[in-house]
Amino acid sequence: MKTLAYLIGGLLGIVGIVFLIAGISWVRVQWIIIGPILVGVAFFVVYMARTKVPDQRIIQEIDLSGDVHPEEMTCNNCGGPLERDSISLREGGVFVDCPYCGTSYQIEEEPKW
Ligand SMILES: [Zn+2]
Repeated sequence: MKTLAYLIGGLLGIVGIVFLIAGISWVRVQWIIIGPILVGVAFFVVYMARTKVPDQRIIQEIDLSGDVHPEEMTCNNCGGPLERDSISLREGGVFVDCPYCGTSYQIEEEPKW
């Protein structure tokens, strides 16, 4: 991925310089304008490739719809109180992982209407 960015950056830079030189040589104002823009884009691409992208942590915001309140939920198996951390979204469903008895099951959300 990084190599590709350098390659694109290098190509854009060369094309930009060619545009600039050709523009000056043949007096084409548009080319003189396009040239530095391409070189700028090339620098930007290389700069972005050099900059270390911070580890993107996929924070899955659990958006519980309907009348599901995790604070008031208890485990169907052992009756232990469930915290928000015990609830996760998987494959579009709301799953409970009980920290007390270790049971995992899916919650059937009741329709809002
Ligand atoms: Zn339990």
